[in-house]
Amino acid sequence: MSDLLIRNCDVLNVTIDARAFVLFDHDILISGNRIEAVQPTGQADPSHFRQVIDGRGQVAMPGLINTHAHTPMVLFRGLAEDVPVHVWFNEYIWPLENNLIEEDVYWGMQLGLAEMIRGGVTSVADHYFHMDGAAKAVEKAGSRALLGWCVFGSNGQEMIERSGRFVQEWQGAANGRIRTLMAPHAPYTCDDDYLRAVVKKAKELGVGIHIHAAEEMFQTENSLSSRGKTPIQVLEEVGVLDGMTIIAHGNGVIPQDYPILTRHQVGIAHCVKGYLKMAAGTTPLLDFRQHQIPIGLGSDGAVSNNTLDIFEVMRLMPMAQKNHHHNAEVMPIAEVLYIATRDSARVYGQPDDLGNLDPGSLADIILVDMTQPHTQPLHSIPATLVYNTRASDVQTVIIDGQVVMKNHELLTLDEGEIISYAVEHKARLAHRDTNKRIQTYAP
Ligand SMILES: [Zn+2]
Repeated sequence: MSDLLIRNCDVLNVTIDARAFVLFDHDILISGNRIEAVQPTGQADPSHFRQVIDGRGQVAMPGLINTHAHTPMVLFRGLAEDVPVHVWFNEYIWPLENNLIEEDVYWGMQLGLAEMIRGGVTSVADHYFHMDGAAKAVEKAGSRALLGWCVFGSNGQEMIERSGRFVQEWQGAANGRIRTLMAPHAPYTCDDDYLRAVVKKAKELGVGIHIHAAEEMFQTENSLSSRGKTPIQVLEEVGVLDGMTIIAHGNGVIPQDYPILTRHQVGIAHCVKGYLKMAAGTTPLLDFRQHQIPIGLGSDGAVSNNTLDIFEVMRLMPMAQKNHHHNAEVMPIAEVLYIATRDSARVYGQPDDLGNLDPGSLADIILVDMTQPHTQPLHSIPATLVYNTRASDVQTVIIDGQVVMKNHELLTLDEGEIISYAVEHKARLAHRDTNKRIQTYAP
């Protein structure tokens, strides 16, 4: 008796050398939390499985990985629109975040996880505050997450210790679905000594670091003119890049940084919707690809992105690159799918287990409905997944071998209860006192 059989679907997988291919009319066999086999329909006897899902008309693909988010920020979405980045931080986000309590993070995380499960996102690298609340929400949702408690230099050693305790308490929790790491905010909010202290803690605990850096070109220019080094050079010097590292954004990465990122295999989380919206410039993704620097898709928080829709990010990424380079041939579909699956899994730190549907990998699988008018007739599944699939086309979601959404119905989270909390606390959370911000943006 095996656990789960997904019958008669088309299977999208991507090779390690970035070729996308589809297996038509196949079954996926799942045993425990892993994929046992992918084989032509007709060979497996459904009566030998505890649960059978009919995949007709659907494409199975690896669950999407969101490599940079501040998920509970969904509670603030729509509150900071059409403003430049310093106003966004100093007059909106950092005063708003002064309102947060752990309970908000718990419910906000559930709200964001519900949105992400609905959109086929099975893993999220999250960087936020009061992270015990976030971890409890992940445990409940059945999602996979890589969690870090955001710290600023002004928080002192005390918060490094606190976030280190969080790392220890939750590492490997929820059947290994939860992993943890250290999460200093950025080199412009943490000085070198503080970053060194975070690195020391990360090494002590044997974990990686998730940080924002070189978010925009002016940060790199400021860093070069004030101290003669790029933000990436600073991170290398203080040891941040020694272990597994996720760097959010990197729009201000310049060619002299490339060998550093390649040498340390630093993952870059790419959150293009926010860049377009906040006029943050174009990330040099084609150079990153050439230098074998891993790229992962990310949403960032929902106050810059407004959604946590990774299908949308997947679509905007190649469009922004094509437009910037005035070249429709750059970043073709197979490469986009590679970044969305295997490369995102590299950035997330689980390259063998996630981002693919190979036998032996973790069973994080989404089934996408291909029967709707906007996807018919279906000439090309890879093209459809990148350019016309909507998050709401995701029909069924399996994480760690467990069905968490079936035929659009969430099985682990109570959306009514979650939305009630968000609505009930809306006014308190939207209150802004700019004298009480948690930080000041002055990179
Ligand atoms: Zn961010």
